[in-house]
Amino acid sequence: MRFARSENLPSTTLVLSKHVNCLDDPQAGHLAWKQAQQCIKILSTSSQLVVMIERLKGHYLVPATLLIVIVQSWHALSEVHKRPGFSIRGFFQNRVRPEKDWEDKLRELPSTNCLRDNMKFLSSKPHHAGSARSREIAGYLLSQFQQWGFSSTIEEFEALLPTPTERLVELISPSQFKAKMKEPAISEDPDSSQTLQIPTFNAYSAEGDVTGELVYVNYGIPEDYQNLKDLGIEVKGRIVLARYGVCHRGVKPKLATKHGAIGCLIYSDPKDDGYFLGDVYPLGAYRPEEGVQRGSANDRYYPGDPLTPGWASVKGASKLKREEATVFQKIPVLPLSYGDALPLLKSLRGPVAPESWRGALPITYHMGPGPGVVRVKVSFEWSIKPVYDIIGRIEGSEYPNEWVLYGNHHDAWVNGAADPVSGTAVVLETARSLGELVKQGWSPRRTIIFALWDAEEWGLVGSTEWVEKHVAELQQKAVAYLNSDSTGKGQLRLEGCHSLGKFINEVVHEVPDPKRGKNLWQVLKAQASSAQKEVSRDVDIRIAPLGSGSDYTAFLDHLGIAVLNLNFASEGSGVYHSIYDTFRWYTQFSDSDFLYGRALSQIMGISLMRLANADVLPFDYVSPVAAITSYVDEIEALYKKARAPRRLSFAALRRELQTFGRSAAAYEKTLQTACSHNRYHDSSPKLSELNRLLYQTERLFAPEIGLPRREWFKHRLYAPGVLTGYDAKTIPGVREAIERDSWEEARQELVVFQRVLTRVTQQTVAAERKLRLALANN
Ligand SMILES: [Zn+2]
Repeated sequence: MRFARSENLPSTTLVLSKHVNCLDDPQAGHLAWKQAQQCIKILSTSSQLVVMIERLKGHYLVPATLLIVIVQSWHALSEVHKRPGFSIRGFFQNRVRPEKDWEDKLRELPSTNCLRDNMKFLSSKPHHAGSARSREIAGYLLSQFQQWGFSSTIEEFEALLPTPTERLVELISPSQFKAKMKEPAISEDPDSSQTLQIPTFNAYSAEGDVTGELVYVNYGIPEDYQNLKDLGIEVKGRIVLARYGVCHRGVKPKLATKHGAIGCLIYSDPKDDGYFLGDVYPLGAYRPEEGVQRGSANDRYYPGDPLTPGWASVKGASKLKREEATVFQKIPVLPLSYGDALPLLKSLRGPVAPESWRGALPITYHMGPGPGVVRVKVSFEWSIKPVYDIIGRIEGSEYPNEWVLYGNHHDAWVNGAADPVSGTAVVLETARSLGELVKQGWSPRRTIIFALWDAEEWGLVGSTEWVEKHVAELQQKAVAYLNSDSTGKGQLRLEGCHSLGKFINEVVHEVPDPKRGKNLWQVLKAQASSAQKEVSRDVDIRIAPLGSGSDYTAFLDHLGIAVLNLNFASEGSGVYHSIYDTFRWYTQFSDSDFLYGRALSQIMGISLMRLANADVLPFDYVSPVAAITSYVDEIEALYKKARAPRRLSFAALRRELQTFGRSAAAYEKTLQTACSHNRYHDSSPKLSELNRLLYQTERLFAPEIGLPRREWFKHRLYAPGVLTGYDAKTIPGVREAIERDSWEEARQELVVFQRVLTRVTQQTVAAERKLRLALANN
């Protein structure tokens, strides 16, 4: 039977009350009974009510009042269920209450004390990937998963993790200065004085010993090189000094090389994360004079172990020769503190830097070239080291072959209290809480997998190798991957696939803001509305598209698995990737009472529970249609601004988008209808087929053939920008081709994207039909 909408209820009640007025007439009584039965069938009531009605069967002369009471109380119940908060996307009505009850229990479980204890322990010593401490941490994490009753394992991979053996930066004329490249310990913070801190360096720099005149290149992005060119300043044969910020650090030496530079220094200007913004550590949260940002400077053709692109670096796997790998920089790169950068900047003359180039150091910023001449020398020990991913599973009771995953990395550059332990501790706390629910009798219908990744800092190594090892299984089984990384006490950030937009909007309604007496959705909405006046009060918050920079990358960009990346922003920090990112710093200047960590654990816990237990997986297509439409608008505007020698037509794509829009709306309507009713036979094979279709739809965005010149990245809706590294470029194939004036490539990529959209639309139509059939056949 088809399901009636619950809005039909008042009129049914009216009809019924009219007939029960003449219950002394057996015929009228029979009619009333039939109608009551029909009404109850339509409403598909709770099992208790059905039992009551069955008992009354055959007794037409039921007192009129009883029937009215039955129907009216059901009506009231149904009204309650229609209230916001009494439906859950993807859950049939009869499953909402039990789900909510378990979620209420879950919300109580994450403990700020446990978060604090884990942070204290995990950040107590330096633990970069490949170190002995990192191995100890892997053992501890495994023991935690085991203690909570998960089937757990450490999966080991190998990776090329070179560490520096020699680092030298010196000014050799007109004056002499040797950079210290050493962060001093701070007496207030004992963790800053530990041994075994990895030196300040940029991973995957080239080795070399170069000497040349210095040029200041601001952030070292394409516009900056254009500016230099306009002023007639060449970087060819020279060493560039760039400041951190705006793009991924690997982009800076890459562009410097492209312009002919022979070395690249990257420093942290106090304007970007130092005293310009506030007091420096230990007095305040910002970067002190000698603080250095370490970090990988890999050229991001592919993440993971540099020697095994596209396959897993398990023991014995074949490897590229070092010179065959394309992710190393071609010139020496080293990071500097502003203490070390100041004498170098002072040595420059030439034009005064434009206003937007000036940092906050007490000098007039010049661009050079020279007269300062600088020598940069760096060499590495190129060793292959073990990498440990810790995996814990709660097996699904009904659909063990559908996986919902949640991960965060565990390796740090030094102590890493904020990055990554703040997020690692939240995974542990969420896992502990769900383990506790299992002890109380809860079981997920789908399998939940927790993952703690190693060597993220070097280039997303642990997560990428794991994905490459399990690629066939993940293609088949992965429903969604949730990711976190550093988390603080600022604004909640919702990033990910738009197909999970409605889902995550609903989840954040369920979690109170720790300090504001509202739920997190209301807080976010108020922030979004003040930024954009036109945002309607009840429209979903649009989640942001993902570029790269954390462990979701392989899941999303390589395999097309739906992902969400969630965290609270860090409100002002200058300790990123330095020895000062410690327990003391975090508990003084970030989420000191761990209340936001607990809120993130509640969000993750509820998200996992809903994804694991939904009757119909909560994907939506209305949000992607809206997002894609806005991206196509942007790209068409970009095209119109460029002086294109050949015509690109967006008309067919627009038509496809309209069809997608209609099928998305139809699917949404059918899903709403489904979720407003009870179901008893919810494990029907039809629903299983539907769910598979739903989570596989995201895969269609990542066709077998990857993006031009970076094949490993396959997703055609989201990718990190080639020249941004972190930030997303949406519809990247078309957008980046237009930005580069590659018109033939733009045309080809437009065709690819349109084909992707056609297949996604067809799948949405198929999903709607399957859902309708599943309901009708019940
Ligand atoms: Zn991190």
